[in-house]
Amino acid sequence: MREKRQDYIDWDTTFLGVAAVMALRSKDPDTQNGACVVDGDHRVLSVGYNGLPRGMCDSVFSWDRQAPKRCDTKYPYMVHAEENAIDNCLRRERLHGATMYLYSAKGYPPCNECAKDIVNAGISRVVCASLLVENTDEYDWTPTMRMFASGGVRIVAVGSPVLILGFGASPGRQPARGSQMFERLSSELSRIAAMTRVIEEEQCQTGSTT
Ligand SMILES: [Zn+2]
Repeated sequence: MREKRQDYIDWDTTFLGVAAVMALRSKDPDTQNGACVVDGDHRVLSVGYNGLPRGMCDSVFSWDRQAPKRCDTKYPYMVHAEENAIDNCLRRERLHGATMYLYSAKGYPPCNECAKDIVNAGISRVVCASLLVENTDEYDWTPTMRMFASGGVRIVAVGSPVLILGFGASPGRQPARGSQMFERLSSELSRIAAMTRVIEEEQCQTGSTT
């Protein structure tokens, strides 16, 4: 009898991979975040990435981080990956007790606004590919961690409990255990993209529009 494959990926890797693919959809030149929400039976409930609200033209609005007026920067208009994933879920009641997987190229945890939405949706676990645990000029993660602690949301970085300054541990970047996975994912996506280009070229040559 043949043995089963041994190098298949686990569920956390699978859904972090889905979140990473969603992040690649983002048009934001600075930040690419993706989210994937699953239920207790490993069924995908929703996905999302950071971008403008539905139907808004991403070639017209500014992608600038700084401008004399804030309304001319990208910030007032951006919807975060976590918000989009919650908003995209067709059956909100199924988010209760669900797990949200997050891929952030910068290692960002959810901001305080997304943390409110996550708590309100009843999501009980947030799994991040890697985590920046220091505060940045833009973000103070303290409100997020306070809301998660009080609202019963457990946040982990690929299996490790998150250690946040002021929440019982030392600062510093969590080791990116997901990096090997993302290298593999990235090469696999390049392979798929190359295949897609070949198919498109063949369609061009044959005049097919399907
Ligand atoms: Zn956010």
